[in-house]
Amino acid sequence: MIEFHDVSKTFAGRPAVSHLNLHFEEGAFTVLIGTSGSGKSTTLKMINRLVEHDSGLIRFAGEEIRSLPVLELRRRMGYAIQSIGLFPHWTVAQNIATVPQLEKWSRQKINARVDELMALLGLEPALRERYPHQLSGGQQQRVGVARALAANPQVLLMDEPFGALDPVTRSALQAEMTRIHRILGRTIILVTHDIDEALRLADRLVLMDSGEVIQQGTPLEILTRPANDFVREFFGRGELGVRLLSLRTVGEAMRRQETQTGGEPLLEHMSLRDALSAFVARQCEVLPVADAQGKSCGTLHFRDLLEGEVAREVDA
Ligand code: ADP
Ligand code: MG
Repeated sequence: MIEFHDVSKTFAGRPAVSHLNLHFEEGAFTVLIGTSGSGKSTTLKMINRLVEHDSGLIRFAGEEIRSLPVLELRRRMGYAIQSIGLFPHWTVAQNIATVPQLEKWSRQKINARVDELMALLGLEPALRERYPHQLSGGQQQRVGVARALAANPQVLLMDEPFGALDPVTRSALQAEMTRIHRILGRTIILVTHDIDEALRLADRLVLMDSGEVIQQGTPLEILTRPANDFVREFFGRGELGVRLLSLRTVGEAMRRQETQTGGEPLLEHMSLRDALSAFVARQCEVLPVADAQGKSCGTLHFRDLLEGEVAREVDA
C-alpha cells in the first residue's frame, strides 16, 4: 500500500532520516517505534507530505506521492496526533464532520456518518453538541480518531495518539484501536515510543534509531530474533520473557488431551501474560482452560509457561 525506496530527509544539514526502505502492507497495523528524535514523526509526515522528502521515492497505492495533488493525498489518509488539534469553537459533531464538510457531503449523509463514528468510538450520543473543553482527555482523543476516520480514508496515520492519556484511558483506547482495526481492516501506521503499546497493537514493527531502520518484522520475530544488541537492549533483556508471553495465547501452550475441573477456567484466547497473572493470583500449578463458548477444552500448566517454546526462544 505504501512503499519507501531509499528515502532520506535532512533539516538544516542534519539528517533526520536516512535511506529508508519500507513496505507498509495493505490492511496491516504497523507501529513505528524508537526513542525520541529517532525520526518516527518525520517518517510518518513524509507519507502525507506534511514533510517533503529530499531524495528517494515514496509510493502510495502504486503512485508516486508527488504525482498526486496534496489535498487528494491527505483526504485519502486520516491523520491523528497527540495534541489532537480539535477546533475549540466547534462541537464534537462539527469536528468529526471536518473532512466530509470539505467534500460537500449532504447534511443527511454527514449526520449519519457522525452517528456511526461516535458509536464506533464509544462516544455517547449526548456528547454530540459539546465543545472540546467539555470533554475528558480520553473523549477528546476518541473524537480525534473519529475525525481522522470520517471520510473513509484508505490509510490511518497516528502520531503518539494516546501519549497524553493516563494509563487506564490509554489501555482502553488501545483495545478500541485493535477492535476498530479488526472491524475496518484499514491500513494503520502508528508512531509510539511505548514498547508495551507497540507490542499490543502491531502486526508489524519498525524499530528506528538515529533516523535509520534498525529492524522490522512481526513483534515475535523481533523479540525472538533481535538483529543486534541495540534491539535486545531496546526491548529490555530482563522483561523479554514477560513481553513474549503477551504475544502468545493460552491455546498455544495448553495441553488439549487433559481435563480438570474446579476453579474458574482460563480462556483459550487469553494471552499467556494474563494467564501468568492468574497463576500468581491463584497460587496453583495447573488451571483448566475453556474455549470461547465456555466449554472445557484442556489445561494449562504453570511449568509449560516457563519451560515451553516461549522460554527456549528467550534463551536462544
Ligand atoms: P521522533 O518523532 O522519533 O521523536 P522526529 O522525526 O520528530 O523524531 O525528529 C527526527 C530528527 O529531526 C530530530 O533530530 C529532530 O530534531 C529533527 N527535526 C524534526 N522536525 C524538524 C524540523 N521541522 N526542523 C528541524 N529539525 C527537525
Ligand atoms: Mg515524534
